[in-house]
Amino acid sequence: MVLADLGRRINAAVAQVTSSTTSVEEADIDTMLKEISRALLESDVNIKLVLKLRDSIKKKIVNDKTPGLNKKKLIQKTVFDELCALVDCEAQPYKPKKNQANVIMFVGLQGAGKTTTCTKLAVYYQKRNFKVGLVCADTFRAGAFDQLKQNATKARIPFFGSYTETDPVEVARIGVEKFKKQKFEIIIVDTSGRHRQEKELFKEMVEIGDAVKPQQTVMVLDGSIGQSAQQQAQAFKESSNFGAIILTKMDGEAKGGGAISAVAATKTPIIFIGTGEHTQDFETFFPKQFISKLLG
Ligand code: GDP
Repeated sequence: MVLADLGRRINAAVAQVTSSTTSVEEADIDTMLKEISRALLESDVNIKLVLKLRDSIKKKIVNDKTPGLNKKKLIQKTVFDELCALVDCEAQPYKPKKNQANVIMFVGLQGAGKTTTCTKLAVYYQKRNFKVGLVCADTFRAGAFDQLKQNATKARIPFFGSYTETDPVEVARIGVEKFKKQKFEIIIVDTSGRHRQEKELFKEMVEIGDAVKPQQTVMVLDGSIGQSAQQQAQAFKESSNFGAIILTKMDGEAKGGGAISAVAATKTPIIFIGTGEHTQDFETFFPKQFISKLLG
């Protein structure tokens, strides 16, 4: 089920209870929770999270003795608050500072949208008057440097990469050093994200991290991949200990639930979401706004 449908189903389940003219019985709450749970599960939200959310909503509503109309308001508010809690892990992500070098390293699997998102983030900070540079440390995928170069040129962002150096750690180190010397304030390092040789990939992430010492490591996670997002995020967390997540492909057919579960599993905040292939398809993530929009 796509995100828009999830929102509609949750709304309908809540409305069934809150718009009825009779008083709310426990059985009505159970029916509502069953439908909300089913909708979340069909959007790939992890079952443990769904059960936790269901119990938490039920406890809050049943324990509250507010009568009549206020009870209905309480139901609406409780469902909203608990959905927000699902996407809000409350940890504060790193905030880049002016007049110093902030190195931001990207990690994630190939195809997640890393290279596209690097440019989106670069443009975001450039618009906010940071001096921004891009480093392509993906020497694994043929064409990765050309792709970054093309995006960066279009967005007028200085970039660094190499056609001859095959060691990604070296490219990352040299690129970051160069931009630091030139007093760049945001240095974004794109890394490789092959599907295979996972051990090799994770080793590479650790080595690049040691070489460039990022102030922030961001995991780029495909919002449309379902349940496997959680396991993927946990594996990257162990090797790169990323401090923030950017969810991509939250447009179109995204279910989003798998990625949301990944956020909960790694206790890492989402900072932006990608909503399309173009540079401007990029939104700052605010849990409350996201859930409000989801519920329409
Ligand atoms: P990488 O291998 O992780 O560097 O991934 P790329 O940046 O090359 O992106 C893989 C594909 O996903 C490309 O076709 C992108 O245009 C597309 N893509 C990236 N972000 C988004 C997004 O937010 N929405 C959509 N619909 N497509 C995206």
